[in-house]
Amino acid sequence: MDALLLHGGTVVDPEARGETRRRADVLVVDGRIAAVEEAPICPDGVETVDVSGLLVTPGLVDLHAHVFVGQDLGVDPDVVGPASGTTTFVDTGSAGGHLFGAFRRGTIDRATARVRAFLNISSIGATSILLAGELENLAYCDEEVAAICATEHADLVIGIKVRASGNVVGASGAEPMLRARRVADRLGLPLMIHLGPAPPGSDEIMAQLHAGDVLTHCFTGFEDNRLFLDGRVRESVLAARERGVVFDVAHGMSAFDAEVATEMLAAGFLPDTISSDVHAYSLDAIGDLPAVMSKFLALGMDVDDVIARTTLKPAQHAGLAADGVGTLRIGAPADVAAFELVEGPIAYADTRGGTFSGSRRLRAALTVRAGAIVHDARKERQP
Ligand SMILES: [Zn+2]
Repeated sequence: MDALLLHGGTVVDPEARGETRRRADVLVVDGRIAAVEEAPICPDGVETVDVSGLLVTPGLVDLHAHVFVGQDLGVDPDVVGPASGTTTFVDTGSAGGHLFGAFRRGTIDRATARVRAFLNISSIGATSILLAGELENLAYCDEEVAAICATEHADLVIGIKVRASGNVVGASGAEPMLRARRVADRLGLPLMIHLGPAPPGSDEIMAQLHAGDVLTHCFTGFEDNRLFLDGRVRESVLAARERGVVFDVAHGMSAFDAEVATEMLAAGFLPDTISSDVHAYSLDAIGDLPAVMSKFLALGMDVDDVIARTTLKPAQHAGLAADGVGTLRIGAPADVAAFELVEGPIAYADTRGGTFSGSRRLRAALTVRAGAIVHDARKERQP
């Protein structure tokens, strides 16, 4: 029997009824959560790790990432994940139908991190975000190719992704978005639409989104398409939230405008999920997912709330929460993270040259994936 006890921490479990935060030990047996309570009865030979002073949470679920190793954008989930407390990545359109097999065999099947994917409606995927957009040539935007691939890899593909913005679609306008919508409907999967510079316009995008679909890059600052305009959240956005559309952060290299985020938060419009959009070109702007979470602490959000939006909520929207992902439920996969809440002033930049500051931040201290410690920042484990 393989057993691990995380002892003395403050557990934050967004799924827990009533008391989401409490002092408890977390006992892991054979890769599953076996107990979350004070002083549980432990099997002989249990390895004990002192996590006192730390916040113990479900492993983070990053709803927007690019982890296709060897592809232009891809970062290695087993490098980025452990150091950031992230145990599940949702890749958002790095691969389309023509390359998904390579993504699967080269990365997903081999990774220690759990990886699921939104399949790019373009068969070539987000091949290079610095050159031509993958939707400029509509021949690549083949509904049949996408549907066949999503069906073949139904165990991994959780939705369809379309980067519906002027810098990606070129002269194709709204057509790629409409094709993505049709494929998602045909397969009964959620659609994720990325918001950037028009076209299409944000009202046109909102009109395509149904309950359970995801609008990613919700705090983008592109003037013509920002979701906060003339002192208020757009009507089409409020209506979309009302019918159950998910609003996701996806900070990335150009999609986090602190002014827009501040205004929307002040208007009571919180993001449903906080994701990083980590990729090879955004690492400098992001740092890691805990750094993105910390920016929301700086903007006034509560710690437990930020944790819920990076664990349980993205797991629910990725269809993984039923299996216990994003929770510390008894019997759930033992994906656990522990964070230090570091007090002290910190300066931040957004992706449009704006600056703001915070007074505390989250730092990943310990990461457990499927019951095994994959990161220990303190290197002070006790036998
Ligand atoms: Zn992205």
